Amino acid sequence: MNEAIRCFEKHFGTAPACTTRAPGRVELLGNHTDYNQGLVMALAVDKYITMAAAPRDDDQVELVSTAFDAPARFTVGHIERDPEATWANYTKGLLLQLQQRGVRTGGFNAAIHSTVPLGGGLSSSAALLVASALTVRKLHPYTLAADGTATPAQGHAPPLTDPERLALAKACQAAENQFVGVNCGLLDHISSLFGKAHQVVRIDCLHLTVDWAPLPADLAVVVCHSGVRHALVGGEYNERRSMCEAAAAKLGVAALRFVNPPGLEAARARLSPREYECAVHIVGENDRVQRGARALAVNDLATFGGFLFDSHASSRDSFKNSCPELDILVELARVEPACLGARLTGGGFGGATLNLVQADQAETFRASVGRAYESRTGHPLESWVCDVVDGAA
Ligand code: ADP
Ligand code: MG
Repeated sequence: MNEAIRCFEKHFGTAPACTTRAPGRVELLGNHTDYNQGLVMALAVDKYITMAAAPRDDDQVELVSTAFDAPARFTVGHIERDPEATWANYTKGLLLQLQQRGVRTGGFNAAIHSTVPLGGGLSSSAALLVASALTVRKLHPYTLAADGTATPAQGHAPPLTDPERLALAKACQAAENQFVGVNCGLLDHISSLFGKAHQVVRIDCLHLTVDWAPLPADLAVVVCHSGVRHALVGGEYNERRSMCEAAAAKLGVAALRFVNPPGLEAARARLSPREYECAVHIVGENDRVQRGARALAVNDLATFGGFLFDSHASSRDSFKNSCPELDILVELARVEPACLGARLTGGGFGGATLNLVQADQAETFRASVGRAYESRTGHPLESWVCDVVDGAA
């Protein structure tokens, strides 16, 4: 909290009226399944975007971030993209979504600070959107019904309910799709809002339901950042999504969720080689999430970890959303006896790996992989042992 408050005080010369924070997330298993109406397991982790904010008397918004030099300024009634400050597009897009739902959004000042790495695959973008939504909810209290309709709240906004969390996640996703231009699914926003301490968030993106299962206590979640920053805006992410949608259309289904591995093999001839490869990844991931859930339920961690390695191999060989640095990290993790499983996490094309490691060996693992990564690539490795935490509130 303190960095955002300090930044606010330094920039605006007064104390903020409120602070809000939203966690980043680690995708445990189920890669690119969300926009294919599939299944995914995620963890909210103790890396946060924090916003310190105060209302203004006019209709201006001024944003400042410890990650960027120049502030962004705009009018709430006249929101446009600014190529000089694309980072403000997240808050701007979210404000537009809230306005469309009937939220009154007055002017405000806000300072942003993040411990979620930018473009690191832990979804700083979703954390920023969720923090923005909750900042507005504190400054101009509102509640969203399950259908997204807003009602002004008297006094303080009430605590979030699960239906409102889902409505907020959809508003955040719409902002990222429509204003930022990334055709992402709901995984990131749902994880940041529905996370629970020590629990795996299990999301069904067809029925839009969420439940939780305990993460075994003797496991540590270690995140290793390749240092390669992905740029999700436009580009490869949207291209993969189009490929999946084209494959589903040729298979005569609404989404790849409705295809299982034998069904895909039987219909392989209907797809181009590239569509087939993309479909193999998605269909395989959905299958691994289901089998992984059964393995976790009986504490069969060796089997569960094997699915993580399989998931990475599928990203590398079929979906082609890995990169050499991520492959090296997974290779290095695999030879560590304390590591049960490792894979790239999030969109891919750079970013981070998730490693499930025996908790009492987590620091030894970090040190060992760090040394090996540096000697292989010449770059120091940034890595963290993450706590699994509650979502934004
Ligand atoms: P990821 O979500 O995996 O971190 P994205 O490319 O989806 O990667 O989102 C990263 C973008 O989110 C950044 O380029 C920036 O525009 C915005 N962002 C993230 N953190 C901050 C921050 N602390 N301040 C301002 N903008 C941020
Ligand atoms: Mg993102």
